[in-house]
Amino acid sequence: MAKLDHNLVAEDLDSYWMPFTPNRMFKAKPRFIVKARGIHYYDSNGHEVIDGSAGLWCVNAGHYREEINQAVAEQLSTLDFAHSFNSGHPYAFNYANRLVEHFPDPLNHVFFTNSGSEAVDTALKIALAFHKGRGQGSRQRLIGREKAYHGMGFGGLSVGGLVKNRSAFGVLLAGSDHIRHTLDIERNAFSRGLPEYGEELADDLERLAGLHGADNIAAVIVEPIAGAGGVILPPKNYLKRLREICTRHGILLIFDEVITGFGRLGATCAAERFGVTPDIMTVAKGITNATIPMGAVFVSDEIYETFMATEEPGVELNHGYTYSGHPLACAAGMATLDIFDKEGLFTRASTLHDHWTDNALRLEGAPNVIDVRCFGLIAAVELASREGEPMQRGAETGNRCYEKGVWVRNIGDILVLSPPLVITEQEITRIFDTILETVEETA
Ligand code: PLP
Repeated sequence: MAKLDHNLVAEDLDSYWMPFTPNRMFKAKPRFIVKARGIHYYDSNGHEVIDGSAGLWCVNAGHYREEINQAVAEQLSTLDFAHSFNSGHPYAFNYANRLVEHFPDPLNHVFFTNSGSEAVDTALKIALAFHKGRGQGSRQRLIGREKAYHGMGFGGLSVGGLVKNRSAFGVLLAGSDHIRHTLDIERNAFSRGLPEYGEELADDLERLAGLHGADNIAAVIVEPIAGAGGVILPPKNYLKRLREICTRHGILLIFDEVITGFGRLGATCAAERFGVTPDIMTVAKGITNATIPMGAVFVSDEIYETFMATEEPGVELNHGYTYSGHPLACAAGMATLDIFDKEGLFTRASTLHDHWTDNALRLEGAPNVIDVRCFGLIAAVELASREGEPMQRGAETGNRCYEKGVWVRNIGDILVLSPPLVITEQEITRIFDTILETVEETA
């Protein structure tokens, strides 16, 4: 392939402080992505790679969707920006109406944010204010889960459960606590579908209710499938049991569907896929196919109506962002919904599920592969760490796959996959052929 435009490559790399990156290592040996089409990325050396992560679990409809580009361009030329603080533009209302048609009842009201992190912090604040507003102000504790990732705001970090993300930032929100994670390689390695063992781990919430008093707990937030923590699946019936415990104690259940929303599991969202409905749901990423930043919080009728029934006149929730419901994001979101509807992308992952699972599980028995966890169009291939060199095997395997034309993201020694939903069966086979070949080479 012809070399791409090198003018796109910056010469001085020092001004930009890169997020979640070992800056010194990257800048010593940088890799620049300069173009994207369909399921492919192109780097500044003209190398084509399959985007095995759909960006960061977000370009679900594939790259460069003309319809979205067009919609954003048209919106720019009509109304570039209008805020929503005691003012309104039709796009946010129309878009919200369309969104709630797709998401499960009774999640019929949407608060817009600009990212997953903001959506999570918004959800936690809504939970606290909801309880206070109906006279249960003692419910102030927010419960997350070990190994969870809920973004980088102080709220999301407080309920998040990844030590590397938390440890530099002090005590975080007072009163937050965590239930146990559900990763159990010993009992559940190489599960086909949801893992058999671990439903009882939901009862860990009872432990916290016993410790803190259930009437002091506002909400529990979980990712139905944990992503950034290394793809951790909910054991069979676990989410149902968690729902029951929350309902019994009047604790709000929040699903963080920033990754699992928008077709990743073969349904609109994990709540639909698993038949368990939370009180609040956060989404982002795939909502605009990652073209314009956006996040959203869905809340139940009961929660919304409680806020609207307050006797105090004026603002019902003192919260919001300058760019909440940004017209460009709404335009991108609506065009994304059009594509999802037209191409059946909400359910496409369920048609590919068996092919995906069969291919991923071909890695069982390959050198150093200690687990494969997969569901919908998500998979994690966990490699045994090298003695005294954690994360090296994952990084090396990832780099070699990249050279072979498949970009697989490694989170430490876990190779994580979440390709665009428009991927074909042949392309899926190629991804796993490449990983298999590579783990054999690096054995
Ligand atoms: N919640 C979950 C489950 C996520 O995976 C992420 C990002 O990966 C976030 C929240 C944060 O989203 P953002 O990076 O858009 O703030």
